[in-house]
Amino acid sequence: MEIRKKLLYQFIFIVALIIFLFSVSVYFSFSKGRKEEFYDRLSSKAKMVVQMLIEIDEIDAELLKRIEKNNPVSLPNEKIIIYNYLDSVVYSTDEGNLIYITPEMISEVRLKDDIRLKQNGYEILGQFFSGQYDRYVVFAAAIDIYGLKKIKRLGIILLIVFFISFFIVFFSGKFFVARALAPISRIMSQVNDISLPNLNTRIDEGNGKDELAQLAQTFNMLLERLETAFETQKSFITNASHELRTPLTVITGHLEVILMKARTNEEYRNTIVSVLGNIKNLNDISNRLLLLAQASSEFPETDFSIVRIDEVLWQVSKETQKISKDYKLTVGFSASIDDDKKLEVRGNEQLLRIALGNLADNGCKYSCNHSAEINVSNDPENVIIEITDKGIGISEEELAKVFQPFYRASNSMSTKGHGIGLSLVDKIIKLHKGRIDVNSEINVGSTFTVFIPLNSTLPLNRG
Ligand code: ADP
Repeated sequence: MEIRKKLLYQFIFIVALIIFLFSVSVYFSFSKGRKEEFYDRLSSKAKMVVQMLIEIDEIDAELLKRIEKNNPVSLPNEKIIIYNYLDSVVYSTDEGNLIYITPEMISEVRLKDDIRLKQNGYEILGQFFSGQYDRYVVFAAAIDIYGLKKIKRLGIILLIVFFISFFIVFFSGKFFVARALAPISRIMSQVNDISLPNLNTRIDEGNGKDELAQLAQTFNMLLERLETAFETQKSFITNASHELRTPLTVITGHLEVILMKARTNEEYRNTIVSVLGNIKNLNDISNRLLLLAQASSEFPETDFSIVRIDEVLWQVSKETQKISKDYKLTVGFSASIDDDKKLEVRGNEQLLRIALGNLADNGCKYSCNHSAEINVSNDPENVIIEITDKGIGISEEELAKVFQPFYRASNSMSTKGHGIGLSLVDKIIKLHKGRIDVNSEINVGSTFTVFIPLNSTLPLNRG
């Protein structure tokens, strides 16, 4: 059920219940008041008749009946019946025998002093008078024509008021609910209008204060993230396809040229070598892209184990040497590393080798002397790996951008590369809950500092 309807029905139910309870309580309290008042009148009437009959010697039953017939303050259809201690009627104005009194009723009056009952619309009060009245039982009965009429009218008025209020509540409720929920409908229609081509559209945040404004702000923040993610993905695809297309175009060009006429063996050989180089390049790009995709998604904890950073660095050193004989990489350990535990991290050895290998490779690649230095130290929580070179450096404006996929600094265009390495390093280090800092100065050199939490400080592995 729509919230709009739910709210409306709840509102109507609550208000209708309140009006109903109010009307019922008014009706019953008035009805009770009428009854009490009427029985009081019956009681005083009964007392008066008994007093006149017993206390005034000159008045006998016949005379009293005549007096009563002409009494202007009699109750409507008033009947008085008096019984003596032998249960014989000593006085009765009920000539038509409309009131039916049984001996049990008389005994009950004697027992309880006072009883109330109803017969054919008559309200009857039975009362016991003892002492100076010599144990008389008096039944006074009458019909409260005016009182009942008033109560009936009150009931009708309350019923009409109830239905009128119900309609007022229904329409005003509908109006207020629609007004209260209008901003939600507005947000919904604005969100519905947003699709890929207009992902930069934002929802109106209204007064900026209430819950609906907060909802609109939350939507806008989500749209902001979606837009950024979408733009990143778009530029990633564009860059990736560009990187893949370049070697393919070169390969196609080489092959087309070689096929134009007959060639010498030497020329065929040169073309094959060049094509092979480009294919290796393609292979390298696609491998790195695959790794980037892997490192971007959550890596299962089961693929993590305790890894010793010194062992990873020896591997890195060996592999760097394989890239080029000119590359020189020195690895040193600070004196603070006095325990194997200060070299242990929890992670994936292969990924760490790729990350640190990339940094070492860059250090050698972007410096004239093709040398880089690695220094390992620690703080209470992390193992710290510094990779320093005295190379071309990175300008301050470009420092933050070099971690974006495919970004290459302007001074590095003459060196071979694809701009994927550092973004991969960044992802891998983040996957290990670590961080990477960079300090660099153009033509002075660069230092990349990697912090990886020590295994002993990770909450899951304590003890
Ligand atoms: P690639 O080296 O393949 O271009 P990376 O992602 O490893 O890609 O590096 C991105 C860019 O960062 C490089 O193109 C280069 O401009 C800059 N860079 C990275 N490391 C260094 C370094 N040690 N010295 C100078 N520039 C660097």
